[in-house]
Amino acid sequence: MSCGICLEKLADPLCLPCGHVYCAHPCLSGLVATTSTDFTAECPTCREPFHTVRPELACLPKAFHKFALPSLRRLYLDLEPSHQSTLESRLAASEARIATLESDKDRLLRAGEQHAAAARAHSRGETEALRKVSSLQAELQRARTEASRAQDKAIDLAGRLVELRAEQQVTAGDLGDASAVIEDLKAKYSKLKRHCRSLEASGREEVEADSSSFVLKKRNSDVAGSSSDVQGSTPKRLRVIRPLPRGRSSLQTPITAPLLARLGAQGGLGSPFRSGE
Ligand SMILES: [Zn+2]
Ligand SMILES: [Zn+2]
Repeated sequence: MSCGICLEKLADPLCLPCGHVYCAHPCLSGLVATTSTDFTAECPTCREPFHTVRPELACLPKAFHKFALPSLRRLYLDLEPSHQSTLESRLAASEARIATLESDKDRLLRAGEQHAAAARAHSRGETEALRKVSSLQAELQRARTEASRAQDKAIDLAGRLVELRAEQQVTAGDLGDASAVIEDLKAKYSKLKRHCRSLEASGREEVEADSSSFVLKKRNSDVAGSSSDVQGSTPKRLRVIRPLPRGRSSLQTPITAPLLARLGAQGGLGSPFRSGE
């Protein structure tokens, strides 16, 4: 940008109210010094007049100071191309930084939403866990009550076990007595069996003697009588002597009902008088 008076690069530029810009020294100061009349000069480009003095603000009320502007104003132009490129690079860097910040903002928003969702899930989980804790505490209370009940029951069972052991000792003593009784009964049974066999043997001998005498008598009668009498007559029945009955009355030892029950429970002996021979 060049000066309209000296046609060179602007040095300490001043701007007129019409907008044209000139060098302050010596171009515009020389113009004012040579052409101004009555504190007024004209723009050398568009011929518009402008005031060459600044009004004295001390004579004006303070409220009007902002309206009393100087006609000539300084301009600060920086037309260095290196500075412009620097500004462009700074602009590009700023735009890149803005884009980065925008992406960071989106990323932070997404992260914030994720954290909020996680916090909501954590809150739900905490509520669930608190409810579970309360239910577990109730269950623990119930378990403690049941444990104390079971402990009382165990104490009762221990007492009952002591009683049962005492009863077992008593029963063992009874069992020894019962074994002695059983041995005694076995001895009596074998003795009775031997006695029955001897009785059977004597009965059999008696029967054989009777039958031999009967045969002799029959032969004698056959010799005396006729054959028609033999055919018409019916044969006489033989008298059979049976062995003595073996009833329970033959037992000499009294058997009490508990003893019989105990013998039956042991599954051993049974009645000796009903066993097969
Ligand atoms: Zn100039
Ligand atoms: Zn002008």
